[in-house]
Amino acid sequence: DIYGQQRQNSRGPNIDIACEWKPFSAKVNEWLNHQWLAGPIINGERIETGRIVEAKAPYDHRHHTGRVHFANAELVAQAVQVASDGFADWHATPVGIRTQALMRLGNLLEENLEELVALCHQEAGKTIQDSIDEVREAVDFCRYYALQANDLFSTPTKRILADGSSHQLIRDGRGVFVCISPWNFPLAIFLGQITAALAAGNTVVAKPAEQTSLIAARAIELMLAAGIPGSAIQLLPGTGADVGAPLTADPRIAGVAFTGSTETARLINRALAARDCAPVPLIAETGGQNAMIIDSTSLPEQVVKDAVQSAFASAGQRCSALRVLCVQKDIADRIIDLLKGAMAELKTGNPCLHSTDVGPVIDAGAQQGLLNYIEQMKSHATLLAQSALHPDADQGTFVAPTAFEIDSIERLGREQFGPIMHLVRYEAKDLDKLIDQINHCGYGLTLGIHTRNEGTAAHIESRARVGNTYINRNQVGATVGVQPFGGQGLSGTGPKAGGPHYLLRFTRLQPNVTRP
Ligand code: GLU
Repeated sequence: DIYGQQRQNSRGPNIDIACEWKPFSAKVNEWLNHQWLAGPIINGERIETGRIVEAKAPYDHRHHTGRVHFANAELVAQAVQVASDGFADWHATPVGIRTQALMRLGNLLEENLEELVALCHQEAGKTIQDSIDEVREAVDFCRYYALQANDLFSTPTKRILADGSSHQLIRDGRGVFVCISPWNFPLAIFLGQITAALAAGNTVVAKPAEQTSLIAARAIELMLAAGIPGSAIQLLPGTGADVGAPLTADPRIAGVAFTGSTETARLINRALAARDCAPVPLIAETGGQNAMIIDSTSLPEQVVKDAVQSAFASAGQRCSALRVLCVQKDIADRIIDLLKGAMAELKTGNPCLHSTDVGPVIDAGAQQGLLNYIEQMKSHATLLAQSALHPDADQGTFVAPTAFEIDSIERLGREQFGPIMHLVRYEAKDLDKLIDQINHCGYGLTLGIHTRNEGTAAHIESRARVGNTYINRNQVGATVGVQPFGGQGLSGTGPKAGGPHYLLRFTRLQPNVTRP
């Protein structure tokens, strides 16, 4: 019984409205053998298209987890029509009613915790802690955006001037929002985008990553059970070519929220620009080439603990993950020694076991790309350490956590979305040059700083162009409502998810109404 051992969620409730987790029960075990079924959900109806894809557990491909019916372009047109027709009703629904449904969704997610955790293991290969955190974050998004919407949209902004005239400004939903979400946060980001769009008064057509369609479909079922009308939320599992492309080309859509690669964000931008109709907003949260800067005053044990967690937790499949550890020369050998020791202890394997630190990567394509990169790096960088793989690793898509030393940050190319970390040494006198090189790579998502010198921390923080800076801690796992998350440059358009300005981008301003 892998859940015999009780475990507390180390993150704990994030915001004061979150309730306590009930202790984990063995019910998760029963769900691990469940076969799920997913497909498009249009106007509240599940559709079986017959274009079936078998879902297999990334950690063991012998284990089938369910079947997904993929959508095609015809269903895309139908879904957008239902969402367009549903807009009038949903946006006329009082904010308080809309947000009550989102609060109910948060409760339903908690009530279905065991099933959702099992789904995160089986479909996304997430470890126990990552799966719990995933559900926790999804719940936080529902409640945070519901509360934000109540604050922002319940009453219009009103000004009365000395001459007695009144001026009123109302924010409102834009229409049909397309939400395109990634497999690395199949529940949290999937629901974060959708709940924001719905809370702001839009209807939604959602295209989840094809790798995690089962989780998406289950989440939509819970939305419907929470009282969100079938005309307000449409689900289209499928490929980018069959679903994403026709969706973003459709002239009836009013905006796109996207999380994924910078390349795909560019494609979406082009598709939106090519439409012969009104321009619409794109909210894109993309990749990172994230650094952690370590100076000689930092505490080596703490640095290595935080670096290992930032680079290898979630198998490095977070856009916030650490990609390049920049260590001041004076302490580099000490850090490398400790890093080798820590990496030798990492357990990569079955994500359903408490003893596992690092699970699989999402699929064979991702695995092959990362393995090719590791091979290629071996010829022009120094391999510092590589963790061991467990004996059954060839049944799934595993990549051993790997660290390379490189001579300059400028050698880094594209973001590698997996458990690969680079290390570079720098001289104290070159700190500014180092920060400029980090800025120059074009991404700007997370930055870690380890120092006991407040002045150094403040200096790095002010010179670096990033979205989220973490001082003397790890640099992953931003908490909704507390650490609004999102970057700049190649890392995305903003606004920050889980922050006070996010919902506004999903709205339009109605005409300012002036009365004498
Ligand atoms: N919000 C997540 C974090 O802070 C990362 C989101 C992502 O990978 O897209 O780690």
